[in-house]
Amino acid sequence: MLTMNPSDLLSSHFRIDVEHQKALKRLGIATIGDLLYHLPVRYDDINDTQSVVGLQKGSEAIIYGQIGGLKARKAWKSRRPIAEGWVEDGTARIKVMWFNQPYLAKMLHDGMYVKLTGKVTGSEGKLYIANPETEQLDALPISTNDSIFKAHSDTDTAIYPVYRETKGVTSKWFYHTIMKCFEKGVLDSIDDPIPEAILKRYTLPQLSTALQWVHTPQKATHTESARKRFAFEEVFYIQVQKAKERAEVSAASFYQFNTDKKHLDAFTERFPFPLTAAQKKAIDAILKDFDGNHAMSRLLEGDVGSGKTAVAATTAYAVATSRPPEGLGKKIEFGNLQVAYMAPTEILAKQHFESFITYFKHLPISIGLITGSGCMKFPSKTNPDKPTSLSKAQLLKWVKNGEIPILIGTHALIYKSVTFKHLAHVIIDEQHRFGTNQRKALAKKDERMPHLLSMTATPIPRTLALTMYGDLDITLLDEMPKGRKPIVTQIVGKGDEAPMYEHVREQLQEGRQAYVICPRIEEPDPDKETALMQKSVIAEAARLKKEVFPEYRIGILHGKMKPSEKDAVMLQFLEHHIDILVATSVVEVGVNVPNATNIIIEGAERFGLSQLHQLRGRVVRSTHQAYCFAVTGSKSEKTRERLKALANAKNGFELAEYDLQFRGTGELYGMKQSGLSDLGMEALRNLKLVEAARTEAQTLVQKDPDLRAHPLIAQKATLLRDTLHME
Ligand code: ADP
Ligand code: MG
Repeated sequence: MLTMNPSDLLSSHFRIDVEHQKALKRLGIATIGDLLYHLPVRYDDINDTQSVVGLQKGSEAIIYGQIGGLKARKAWKSRRPIAEGWVEDGTARIKVMWFNQPYLAKMLHDGMYVKLTGKVTGSEGKLYIANPETEQLDALPISTNDSIFKAHSDTDTAIYPVYRETKGVTSKWFYHTIMKCFEKGVLDSIDDPIPEAILKRYTLPQLSTALQWVHTPQKATHTESARKRFAFEEVFYIQVQKAKERAEVSAASFYQFNTDKKHLDAFTERFPFPLTAAQKKAIDAILKDFDGNHAMSRLLEGDVGSGKTAVAATTAYAVATSRPPEGLGKKIEFGNLQVAYMAPTEILAKQHFESFITYFKHLPISIGLITGSGCMKFPSKTNPDKPTSLSKAQLLKWVKNGEIPILIGTHALIYKSVTFKHLAHVIIDEQHRFGTNQRKALAKKDERMPHLLSMTATPIPRTLALTMYGDLDITLLDEMPKGRKPIVTQIVGKGDEAPMYEHVREQLQEGRQAYVICPRIEEPDPDKETALMQKSVIAEAARLKKEVFPEYRIGILHGKMKPSEKDAVMLQFLEHHIDILVATSVVEVGVNVPNATNIIIEGAERFGLSQLHQLRGRVVRSTHQAYCFAVTGSKSEKTRERLKALANAKNGFELAEYDLQFRGTGELYGMKQSGLSDLGMEALRNLKLVEAARTEAQTLVQKDPDLRAHPLIAQKATLLRDTLHME
């Protein structure tokens, strides 16, 4: 018999038709190994299941089957609504009736897989199940006749795995194909990449055992132990990759320089505000890194409005006033160290450029701006208080020879034509908006490794930060500048919007502006989702114009617009040619429109709390009182409670932790596209597991930086480098 290896293509062992091929491709399954790692999404207990054919009057039945023949009608005498149909399980079919539940008829449809629990009534030959509890399933269980699920003893449970399906491939297919792989002895050819000592420390099963347990559990503890192992393993491989990246940065040559504290105070004392303690701490940490023994890799996390730009400006000042070190075979010439500051949009880059001008205008330090639509420089030769436009060639010449120490820009900064003399510091704003490769491309612009400062307003829980940003040191700006009026957040029930609209109207009359965010629409197909969102934005804008705010200028923003169109609309809003901006939740974050102080979020229950917090962050940028209205049609007490947390939480981190504990990682920003498996995400709820995996990974990489003794781990980690991202 042909031996089977995990790296073999599925198609070299199984005949796979076109439908299956397509479906498997969608799920990213090509090899036997991929298939074995398609883990069950859940397990069902089938001990109490009956076959339809054996049902008797009066028995309590649990049936797994497919629904058919659905119709709704009214009872002949009482006119009560009745939904009826039948359920079929492969042995027979039986009639089902639901009384007084007209909504059920709408929810159910022919062909749907269900689990029904209810009492068998009627008379012999005319049996039916009345008002069963009806649970929709995405797949039918593997047949109860499969011997593997027969209870082996009274204490064993018969549990069967249920796999994620997609059109063209069923849960059953997965089960049976995996079974065949086991029969062909694939488990014998599986090596465990994780050292035994680590497995022992956390009592985790070997890989082949874990695979067997996860796909064919004989008892509940099997599945738990196997899932724990797979969760650990995923986080461990990520941490190994992060530790390797970290080691590479540490090994690179870098710029080391010391900045005198007094020198810096002279700069920050000119700010029109005192720095918060959190800002001071962040600046201190960064200065220490500049004078440390390897290049900095630091993430600065702070809520919108926490003052990240001032921190960036201060560190830029420290760099731009430092001399390049001697050596590297270069003659020391003209010019100081340089800074590149990258922002995700043109508007943001311009805003940073303007802020920097106010911070640096008293100093002989030039600042450049490069975006897709042109270049600027401060100061202008003719007017030292003003910036001026200039050609890209001229700007790049001055950047190259070191005359311009600070260059701010969009991703235009990454272009090959942009070269620096001594790029010592790279600052990336809203870092999740850039790909890893874009961030790296900027860092590669110098033969030494520039100090990296990534900034983000996305509040994420600690476990997630440790995992996805495991290669970075993290500094929190967890304090808002003094004097900010806290935002007033109100939960508004659907149908009770009148006072809210009245309030917003008053605000608009006073000259303020408002955002209206349309509800999130969940659609498996991203293109369809964008189209639906576009439709809802256009419809809501039309409704507001017609029914609520006919006298105001309403603009729209959604994901189907081109970046240039979006920028144009944001600019119109910024310049107050638009009063109300109706938008989807995916629109530009970070743009500062200080005059927009109201935000209405429709369908608030569909968002995670941290995302709601992100959204309302757009209106807390001014000295005017800001208002957030979370509109919800949900009557659920739980939902209301959850939304209330929004009104009470101190900062975004608290809300992110709340989301993680109460709704799972799926709610967290960017997680769905992160490349983490469901189990990996689940693991992020477990701080102990994450910390253990991190410690083990760091120890391993420290001992064996090239992973010579662990080629399988190296392989897994490299794979993750290419698939895992938080953007
Ligand atoms: P973000 O962290 O969202 O990037 P910004 O850097 O844009 O925040 O700062 C938001 C606003 O707060 C700016 O107008 C800035 O001038 C102001 N600001 C920053 N630091 C302080 C401070 N310590 N005290 C008062 N205002 C501050
Ligand atoms: Mg910012």
